[in-house]
Amino acid sequence: MNIIPAQKRIALVAHDGRKDNLLEWVNFNRDTLSGHFLLGTGTTGAIVAEQTGLPVHRYKSGPLGGDQQIGAKISEGAIDILIFFWDPLESQPHDPDVKALLRLAVLYNIPTACNRATADFLISSELMSKDYQRKLVDLESYLPEVRKDDLG
Ligand code: PGA
Repeated sequence: MNIIPAQKRIALVAHDGRKDNLLEWVNFNRDTLSGHFLLGTGTTGAIVAEQTGLPVHRYKSGPLGGDQQIGAKISEGAIDILIFFWDPLESQPHDPDVKALLRLAVLYNIPTACNRATADFLISSELMSKDYQRKLVDLESYLPEVRKDDLG
C-alpha cells in the first residue's frame, strides 16, 4: 500500500470554471497519460473521455458525492495521484467535500496538483515512470487500541 507504482491511478477532478483548463492539460500530456489509469468525477471524466478518447473510470458527479468517492479510494490506497483543478473564484455547494478530498490527499501523501503549473511539474517528474516509496504518518498512533484493525 505504501508503494506508488510505475503505472499510476490518476484521479482527474475539475470544477466547471476550470474544466477547459484541465482538458487542455490532458490533451497536451495525452501520450504520457495513456500509459496510466485515469479516473474522474462524473462530468470531468465524461468530458475527458469524449474529447481525448482516453478511457476514464467515472465516479459520481462531484456535487453528488464523486469527491467523497475519490477520497474514499485514496484512503484505501487505490488512487496514486490527484489532479484537482478547483475554482478559486467560485463558491461550490459541495465545498465541505472539496476540503475533505484535499485533506485525505495530504494525509495519505499522494502527489496532488491544484493548478496547471503544479500539474506540469508533476507530470514531468522522472518519478512518473517509477515505483515510489510513499511515507505515511504513523496512523496507528491516532487510533485507540480497539480500532487498530480499521487501518486495513
Ligand atoms: P464533476 O465534479 O466532474 O462531476 O463536475 C467535479 C467537482 O465539482 O468536484
